[in-house]
Amino acid sequence: MRSPGPSRTLNATMRVGNKDMEQRKISWAEPYKIKMVELIAMTTREQREAALVEAGYNTFLLPSEKVYIDLLTDSGTSAMSDRQWAGMMMGDEAYAGSRNFYHLEKAIQDTYGYKYIVPTHQGRGAENILSQIMIKKGQFVPGNMYFTTTRLHQELAGGTFVDIIIDEAHDPNNTFAFKGNVDLNKLQVLIDKHGADKIAYVSIATTVNMAGGQPVSMANLKELRALCTKHGISIIHDMTRVAENAYMIQQLEPGHADRSVQDIVKEICSLTDGATMSAKKDALVNIGGFLAVNDWDVFEEARNMVVVYEGLHTYGGLAGRDMEAMAIGIGESVQEDHIRARVGQVFYLGKKLLDAGIPIVKPVGTHGVFLDAKAFLPHLKQTAFPAQVLAAELYLESGVRAMERGIVSAGRNKDTGDHYYPELELVRLTIPRRAYTQAHMDVVAESVERVYERRKSITGLKMVYEPKYLRFFQARFERLPA
Ligand SMILES: *Cc1c(COP(=O)(O)O)cnc(C)c1O
Repeated sequence: MRSPGPSRTLNATMRVGNKDMEQRKISWAEPYKIKMVELIAMTTREQREAALVEAGYNTFLLPSEKVYIDLLTDSGTSAMSDRQWAGMMMGDEAYAGSRNFYHLEKAIQDTYGYKYIVPTHQGRGAENILSQIMIKKGQFVPGNMYFTTTRLHQELAGGTFVDIIIDEAHDPNNTFAFKGNVDLNKLQVLIDKHGADKIAYVSIATTVNMAGGQPVSMANLKELRALCTKHGISIIHDMTRVAENAYMIQQLEPGHADRSVQDIVKEICSLTDGATMSAKKDALVNIGGFLAVNDWDVFEEARNMVVVYEGLHTYGGLAGRDMEAMAIGIGESVQEDHIRARVGQVFYLGKKLLDAGIPIVKPVGTHGVFLDAKAFLPHLKQTAFPAQVLAAELYLESGVRAMERGIVSAGRNKDTGDHYYPELELVRLTIPRRAYTQAHMDVVAESVERVYERRKSITGLKMVYEPKYLRFFQARFERLPA
């Protein structure tokens, strides 16, 4: 039952470059030139030390003005194109039926192929509505690893998330090319144990953020579709980085090399029944999202609910200009030159770190490089928050801001009250789209290397303030004594 998928001999080296880089020695390069610049601050070590204490060792609580290179997230941090900015001037700020809504609807239908759309202010707005509609209390929601906001909305709607990603995804040293794949056996076991009607839907993310930006293969998606169809289970697609996933299929999965990214994106979407989208990632906007479905009844309910939580169904919490920028960004996100450079820049940083012997998640993912904090700081227990302290040390070193993706992000089990103890204890260096240059990536790599050299002297943290929901955003820490 286990999906054989594409060959596992595809190795880390191959995934660090793309076919152009590895075989023809052609570099990726930015397919744009700079028309406007934003000045960023250079700080001293003393200033950073003070800022870090003030922020309770949580990089989310640092003011961005004190950050030099901001790799906290690729969410809403993209540089928009001149076309998108021109689109902002074409905002139709009518309360109902804005022409920008119709542009957005058409862009989603043309690029992704879903039938009905509801705009939302961002991805979690769509997750909230969809979870409330599709999950009945006591149902299970299997998925290829959890995502923070996605799982929380599933739980708030009365569902229980079940991880059905392949085991390889939990091993930062396993170089399998498609670590985002679903283990169909795990899904079958769940169906056999509880029955298909206890499964709200299968939640499938392209690419898998929490696994390190790992893609799902087309072959695996097709097998998943067949199994779900057999049991009458819907598939909901977290399509936040679907273009990046499609690019990896084009580069690495046999039989797809001659297809366009656009074509592959559409096929991925066609294998699912609906989607939630954070347009702040792939779609190159600073704010926006949507819900898209093929089922009229779900659409009708979503259109009803969006009025309660977001706004009228033709704006969903967005200005007309935001929807216009999103419509244009969706088109740009599937252009070959764009996606090759976007992923190429991430691979460039990944390769530098690998060459320097830094422990990172392999293969390199599509939206960021993930430092393996357990291997980086093996002398720290997980309850001393190794990834949290590593992110803090990196900021202290050079003003580079990264994010914890480990025990703090994983939160607590709602039944036992204990921490979840994730296998992966990572620091995410997430690359905003089109915002930084290759030289910035060099500075980042050198900063990580300097922290690595003094890693043995780094001590852990203790949590001194813990919020109830999504604690990683606002938790505060203090240094443990050496
Ligand atoms: C960012 C993200 C979300 C949530 O979207 P927001 O726009 O931040 O609300 C959901 N799933 C994945 C995989 C994401 O990366």
